[in-house]
Amino acid sequence: MDTETLATRIEAGERRALARAITLVESGRDDHRAQAIELLDRLAGGGKQALRIGLSGTPGVGKSTFIESFGMMLTAQGLRVAVLAVDPSSARSGGSILGDKTRMERLSRDPNAFIRPSPSQSALGGVARRTRDAVALCEAAGFDVILIETVGVGQSETMVADMSDLFILLLAPAGGDELQGVKRGIMEMADIILVNKADGDLKPAAMRTCADYAGALRLLRKRSYDPDQFPKAMTVSALEEQGLQKAWEEMQTLADWRREHSHFTRRRSEQAQHWFGEEVRMGLLRRLEADPAIRARMSELGQAVAAGRASVSGAAAEMLGELS
Ligand code: GDP
Repeated sequence: MDTETLATRIEAGERRALARAITLVESGRDDHRAQAIELLDRLAGGGKQALRIGLSGTPGVGKSTFIESFGMMLTAQGLRVAVLAVDPSSARSGGSILGDKTRMERLSRDPNAFIRPSPSQSALGGVARRTRDAVALCEAAGFDVILIETVGVGQSETMVADMSDLFILLLAPAGGDELQGVKRGIMEMADIILVNKADGDLKPAAMRTCADYAGALRLLRKRSYDPDQFPKAMTVSALEEQGLQKAWEEMQTLADWRREHSHFTRRRSEQAQHWFGEEVRMGLLRRLEADPAIRARMSELGQAVAAGRASVSGAAAEMLGELS
């Protein structure tokens, strides 16, 4: 299909055209990349703006259950919802935590929803680019909400936060009174912490965990640009569909505030600039590594460093000196 036809169909909201375009941006073939870029350029600046929501949580906290219930609630309100998964485990082991086809069965049958599992690419950089491109395509296809889901491991959270308007951390009720080892850096990225499974026997523990995190959030530095009550912690039950509407209202409150105070567009501009820099840096690296002479010299100096014959700084300076 030629680029113009594909673009027109995406803009008309055709899910098959969207799926096809995402396959195109995921491809490693040079001709596919060229068409993907042509397509992305053609669709850029189309004026449609989705709310991009990053969602992170360790395996088992209930991400798929939450996305299904939350997504169904949004589509019932007439919103179109896209779900993209970023799963670093699929890149490392070939096996995916998030790619399981049986996840979100009801939502995947909903005509107003579009679900795309994580691609299995070798590097996080490649996954970042594909996800960014997929976000742009979903936005051009007129989705109102784009959920970008990731597992709470490695650097994938930072990456997802860097392409989202809001970042949500999903947690399970803690057994003990410790803060589940959530890293401070991840807490600092969260706009809203949702403690899931606040139902049945787990409800008291969920309430306690929520209070603990609310306390921990108060100790973090306030973001001067957000209203006082954010970042905040709340309880939900994805299984019993409790608290989801309230969570959605909070997300909208924060998004609306940021729009009104021009933080929303500023954040997107900064993100675009950040990713532009990343893309150029990655491209330069790829170019260098494709040069056999440079690769050989890198390996030689690497061995010298490994054997203690050269210092890390000295060998790096030598390599860089030879490149300039
Ligand atoms: P994911 O690995 O983060 O995607 O988690 P899943 O959505 O697959 O859920 C893991 C387990 O937790 C499943 O057995 C779910 O049924 C259960 N679960 C998810 N949400 C809730 C909830 O709100 N309440 C309770 N009690 N269990 C839940």
